[in-house]
Amino acid sequence: MSNLSRPALAGLLALGLCNAASALEHAHWSYAGKTGPAEWAALAPDNQLCKTGQQQSPIDLHAAKARAPASHDVAIRYGRAAGRLVNNGHTLELDLAGPSDNLVVHQGVEHRLAQFHFHTPSEHRLEGRAFPMELHLVNKSADGGIAVVGVLIREGRKNGALAPIFAGPPKAGAAGRDLQIDLAALLPADRKALRYTGSLTTPPCTEQVHWMVLEQPIEMSAGQIAAFRRLFPDNHRPVQPLNGREPVEENAGE
Ligand SMILES: [Zn+2]
Repeated sequence: MSNLSRPALAGLLALGLCNAASALEHAHWSYAGKTGPAEWAALAPDNQLCKTGQQQSPIDLHAAKARAPASHDVAIRYGRAAGRLVNNGHTLELDLAGPSDNLVVHQGVEHRLAQFHFHTPSEHRLEGRAFPMELHLVNKSADGGIAVVGVLIREGRKNGALAPIFAGPPKAGAAGRDLQIDLAALLPADRKALRYTGSLTTPPCTEQVHWMVLEQPIEMSAGQIAAFRRLFPDNHRPVQPLNGREPVEENAGE
Protein backbone atom coordinates (compact mmCIF):
# COMPACT_ATOMS: atom_id res chain seq x y z
CA MET A 1 0.00 0.00 0.00
CA SER A 2 3.00 2.29 0.43
CA ASN A 3 2.82 3.27 -3.20
CA LEU A 4 -0.67 4.72 -2.92
CA SER A 5 -0.86 8.49 -2.50
CA ARG A 6 -2.91 9.65 0.49
CA PRO A 7 -5.75 11.08 -1.61
CA ALA A 8 -5.96 7.84 -3.60
CA LEU A 9 -6.05 5.76 -0.41
CA ALA A 10 -8.68 8.06 1.13
CA GLY A 11 -10.74 7.70 -2.03
CA LEU A 12 -10.60 3.92 -1.88
CA LEU A 13 -11.55 3.89 1.81
CA ALA A 14 -14.39 6.31 1.10
CA LEU A 15 -15.85 3.83 -1.39
CA GLY A 16 -16.73 1.64 1.55
CA LEU A 17 -18.20 -0.94 -0.78
CA CYS A 18 -15.12 -3.02 -1.40
CA ASN A 19 -11.69 -3.26 0.14
CA ALA A 20 -8.72 -1.58 -1.47
CA ALA A 21 -7.23 -4.82 -2.78
CA SER A 22 -10.25 -5.74 -4.86
CA ALA A 23 -10.61 -2.18 -6.15
CA LEU A 24 -7.00 -2.29 -7.33
CA GLU A 25 -7.38 -5.67 -8.99
CA HIS A 26 -9.99 -4.10 -11.19
CA ALA A 27 -7.75 -1.17 -12.16
CA HIS A 28 -8.37 -0.70 -15.84
CA TRP A 29 -5.59 -0.13 -18.37
CA SER A 30 -5.67 0.66 -22.05
CA TYR A 31 -3.53 1.99 -24.90
CA ALA A 32 -4.72 5.63 -24.95
CA GLY A 33 -5.54 8.62 -22.75
CA LYS A 34 -5.88 8.51 -18.96
CA THR A 35 -5.37 4.75 -18.74
CA GLY A 36 -2.76 4.58 -21.55
CA PRO A 37 0.92 3.47 -21.36
CA ALA A 38 2.22 6.73 -19.79
CA GLU A 39 -0.27 6.28 -16.91
CA TRP A 40 0.02 2.52 -16.24
CA ALA A 41 2.19 2.97 -13.12
CA ALA A 42 -0.38 5.35 -11.61
CA LEU A 43 -3.21 2.85 -12.03
CA ALA A 44 -2.05 0.28 -9.46
CA PRO A 45 0.84 -0.16 -6.97
CA ASP A 46 1.81 -3.42 -8.69
CA ASN A 47 2.51 -1.52 -11.92
CA GLN A 48 5.46 0.57 -10.64
CA LEU A 49 8.00 -1.08 -12.96
CA CYS A 50 6.07 0.34 -15.94
CA LYS A 51 7.58 3.70 -14.88
CA THR A 52 10.69 2.92 -12.79
CA GLY A 53 11.95 -0.25 -14.53
CA GLN A 54 15.35 -0.01 -16.23
CA GLN A 55 14.92 -3.08 -18.48
CA GLN A 56 11.59 -2.44 -20.16
CA SER A 57 10.18 -3.65 -23.46
CA PRO A 58 9.65 -3.11 -26.34
CA ILE A 59 12.84 -1.57 -27.77
CA ASP A 60 14.24 -0.50 -31.13
CA LEU A 61 16.52 -3.31 -32.38
CA HIS A 62 19.53 -2.85 -34.66
CA ALA A 63 21.03 -5.99 -36.19
CA ALA A 64 24.25 -4.23 -37.27
CA LYS A 65 24.98 -3.19 -33.67
CA ALA A 66 24.16 -6.59 -32.15
CA ARG A 67 26.85 -8.60 -30.39
CA ALA A 68 27.72 -12.19 -31.31
CA PRO A 69 26.76 -14.74 -28.64
CA ALA A 70 29.41 -16.35 -26.45
CA SER A 71 27.78 -19.74 -27.16
CA HIS A 72 24.72 -21.19 -28.91
CA ASP A 73 22.09 -20.54 -26.24
CA VAL A 74 18.58 -20.63 -27.67
CA ALA A 75 16.42 -23.02 -29.69
CA ILE A 76 12.77 -22.75 -30.72
CA ARG A 77 11.06 -26.17 -31.05
CA TYR A 78 7.49 -25.59 -32.21
CA GLY A 79 4.99 -27.93 -33.90
CA ARG A 80 1.19 -27.86 -33.66
CA ALA A 81 -0.55 -25.92 -30.88
CA ALA A 82 -4.12 -26.58 -29.72
CA GLY A 83 -5.98 -24.13 -27.52
CA ARG A 84 -8.80 -21.66 -27.08
CA LEU A 85 -8.89 -18.38 -28.96
CA VAL A 86 -10.18 -15.56 -26.73
CA ASN A 87 -10.67 -11.80 -27.03
CA ASN A 88 -9.54 -10.53 -23.60
CA GLY A 89 -10.27 -6.87 -24.35
CA HIS A 90 -6.57 -6.10 -24.93
CA THR A 91 -5.77 -8.55 -27.77
CA LEU A 92 -6.68 -11.82 -29.46
CA GLU A 93 -4.95 -14.62 -27.57
CA LEU A 94 -4.68 -18.38 -28.06
CA ASP A 95 -4.42 -20.01 -24.62
CA LEU A 96 -2.88 -23.44 -25.00
CA ALA A 97 -4.81 -26.43 -23.71
CA GLY A 98 -2.79 -28.36 -21.12
CA PRO A 99 0.96 -28.94 -21.05
CA SER A 100 2.53 -28.07 -24.38
CA ASP A 101 5.24 -29.89 -26.34
CA ASN A 102 6.10 -26.54 -27.93
CA LEU A 103 9.36 -25.46 -26.35
CA VAL A 104 11.87 -22.66 -26.22
CA VAL A 105 15.19 -23.75 -24.71
CA HIS A 106 17.00 -20.73 -23.30
CA GLN A 107 20.44 -21.26 -21.76
CA GLY A 108 19.61 -24.91 -21.10
CA VAL A 109 16.22 -24.19 -19.46
CA GLU A 110 13.01 -25.47 -21.09
CA HIS A 111 10.19 -22.93 -21.43
CA ARG A 112 6.82 -24.31 -22.57
CA LEU A 113 4.48 -22.30 -24.77
CA ALA A 114 1.56 -21.01 -22.66
CA GLN A 115 -0.16 -18.57 -25.03
CA PHE A 116 0.34 -16.36 -28.05
CA HIS A 117 -1.26 -13.03 -29.00
CA PHE A 118 -0.99 -10.07 -31.36
CA HIS A 119 -0.24 -6.33 -31.37
CA THR A 120 -0.81 -3.59 -33.97
CA PRO A 121 1.31 -1.78 -34.95
CA SER A 122 4.41 -3.79 -33.94
CA GLU A 123 5.85 -3.07 -30.48
CA HIS A 124 9.49 -3.80 -31.34
CA ARG A 125 11.10 -1.79 -34.09
CA LEU A 126 13.78 -3.13 -36.41
CA GLU A 127 16.33 -0.53 -37.57
CA GLY A 128 13.90 2.16 -36.37
CA ARG A 129 11.05 0.79 -38.44
CA ALA A 130 7.68 -0.40 -37.11
CA PHE A 131 5.71 -3.21 -38.82
CA PRO A 132 1.92 -3.45 -39.22
CA MET A 133 1.67 -6.19 -36.55
CA GLU A 134 3.69 -8.34 -34.13
CA LEU A 135 3.06 -11.84 -32.77
CA HIS A 136 4.19 -12.69 -29.22
CA LEU A 137 4.63 -16.36 -28.24
CA VAL A 138 4.88 -16.51 -24.41
CA ASN A 139 6.79 -19.47 -22.93
CA LYS A 140 7.18 -20.31 -19.24
CA SER A 141 9.68 -22.45 -17.33
CA ALA A 142 8.85 -24.65 -14.33
CA ASP A 143 10.44 -22.09 -11.99
CA GLY A 144 8.44 -19.14 -13.32
CA GLY A 145 10.88 -17.81 -15.93
CA ILE A 146 9.42 -16.19 -19.05
CA ALA A 147 10.81 -16.34 -22.60
CA VAL A 148 8.92 -14.55 -25.38
CA VAL A 149 9.42 -15.06 -29.11
CA GLY A 150 8.50 -11.91 -31.08
CA VAL A 151 7.62 -12.27 -34.77
CA LEU A 152 7.23 -9.14 -36.90
CA ILE A 153 4.40 -9.18 -39.46
CA ARG A 154 4.39 -7.26 -42.73
CA GLU A 155 1.53 -6.89 -45.22
CA GLY A 156 1.70 -9.44 -48.03
CA ARG A 157 0.17 -12.79 -48.85
CA LYS A 158 -2.70 -14.25 -46.85
CA ASN A 159 -1.28 -16.26 -43.94
CA GLY A 160 -2.68 -19.78 -44.23
CA ALA A 161 -1.41 -20.94 -40.82
CA LEU A 162 -3.22 -18.02 -39.10
CA ALA A 163 -6.39 -18.23 -41.23
CA PRO A 164 -8.43 -20.02 -38.49
CA ILE A 165 -7.80 -17.03 -36.17
CA PHE A 166 -8.55 -14.15 -38.54
CA ALA A 167 -11.61 -15.60 -40.23
CA GLY A 168 -14.25 -14.07 -37.94
CA PRO A 169 -12.23 -13.41 -34.76
CA PRO A 170 -14.28 -13.23 -31.52
CA LYS A 171 -15.46 -9.82 -30.27
CA ALA A 172 -14.77 -8.82 -26.63
CA GLY A 173 -16.94 -10.84 -24.28
CA ALA A 174 -17.79 -13.45 -26.92
CA ALA A 175 -17.26 -17.13 -26.16
CA GLY A 176 -13.81 -18.51 -27.01
CA ARG A 177 -13.24 -20.89 -29.88
CA ASP A 178 -11.08 -24.06 -29.85
CA LEU A 179 -8.44 -24.06 -32.58
CA GLN A 180 -5.28 -25.79 -33.78
CA ILE A 181 -2.45 -23.79 -35.32
CA ASP A 182 0.63 -25.20 -37.08
CA LEU A 183 3.40 -23.11 -35.53
CA ALA A 184 6.11 -24.93 -37.49
CA ALA A 185 4.45 -23.66 -40.70
CA LEU A 186 3.86 -20.21 -39.23
CA LEU A 187 7.41 -19.22 -38.23
CA PRO A 188 9.87 -17.98 -40.86
CA ALA A 189 12.49 -20.38 -42.21
CA ASP A 190 15.26 -18.05 -41.08
CA ARG A 191 15.36 -18.14 -37.28
CA LYS A 192 18.01 -15.47 -36.83
CA ALA A 193 16.93 -13.66 -33.65
CA LEU A 194 17.86 -10.56 -31.66
CA ARG A 195 17.94 -11.55 -28.02
CA TYR A 196 17.86 -9.26 -24.99
CA THR A 197 16.54 -9.06 -21.42
CA GLY A 198 13.37 -6.99 -21.10
CA SER A 199 9.87 -6.98 -19.65
CA LEU A 200 6.25 -7.78 -20.27
CA THR A 201 4.86 -5.02 -22.54
CA THR A 202 1.60 -4.86 -20.54
CA PRO A 203 0.98 -4.08 -16.85
CA PRO A 204 2.54 -5.01 -14.45
CA CYS A 205 5.60 -4.71 -16.82
CA THR A 206 7.43 -7.54 -15.00
CA GLU A 207 11.18 -7.67 -15.83
CA GLN A 208 13.72 -10.50 -16.36
CA VAL A 209 11.84 -11.58 -19.49
CA HIS A 210 14.07 -13.32 -22.09
CA TRP A 211 13.15 -11.78 -25.44
CA MET A 212 14.06 -13.19 -28.83
CA VAL A 213 12.72 -11.20 -31.77
CA LEU A 214 13.09 -12.89 -35.16
CA GLU A 215 14.61 -10.67 -37.83
CA GLN A 216 12.73 -12.22 -40.77
CA PRO A 217 9.10 -11.04 -40.76
CA ILE A 218 6.13 -13.23 -41.69
CA GLU A 219 3.21 -12.01 -43.80
CA MET A 220 -0.51 -11.46 -43.35
CA SER A 221 -2.88 -10.11 -46.00
CA ALA A 222 -4.35 -6.60 -45.86
CA GLY A 223 -7.71 -8.24 -45.14
CA GLN A 224 -6.34 -10.25 -42.20
CA ILE A 225 -4.65 -7.17 -40.72
CA ALA A 226 -7.88 -5.18 -41.17
CA ALA A 227 -9.85 -7.94 -39.38
CA PHE A 228 -7.58 -7.51 -36.33
CA ARG A 229 -7.66 -3.70 -36.46
CA ARG A 230 -11.45 -3.66 -36.49
CA LEU A 231 -11.21 -5.16 -32.98
CA PHE A 232 -7.98 -3.41 -31.85
CA PRO A 233 -7.11 -0.25 -33.84
CA ASP A 234 -3.89 0.26 -31.77
CA ASN A 235 -2.71 -2.02 -28.96
CA HIS A 236 1.04 -1.34 -28.85
CA ARG A 237 3.28 0.05 -26.10
CA PRO A 238 5.85 2.61 -27.37
CA VAL A 239 9.58 1.71 -27.44
CA GLN A 240 11.43 2.04 -24.12
CA PRO A 241 14.99 3.26 -23.31
CA LEU A 242 17.81 0.74 -23.83
CA ASN A 243 19.67 1.83 -20.65
CA GLY A 244 22.89 0.23 -21.85
CA ARG A 245 21.40 -3.07 -22.98
CA GLU A 246 23.18 -4.63 -25.98
CA PRO A 247 21.11 -7.22 -27.87
CA VAL A 248 22.80 -10.41 -29.07
CA GLU A 249 22.19 -11.83 -32.56
CA GLU A 250 21.79 -15.59 -32.64
CA ASN A 251 20.23 -18.31 -34.78
CA ALA A 252 17.34 -19.75 -32.75
CA GLY A 253 17.04 -22.81 -34.99
CA GLU A 254 18.21 -26.23 -33.85
ZN1 LIG B 1 2.50 -8.96 -26.32
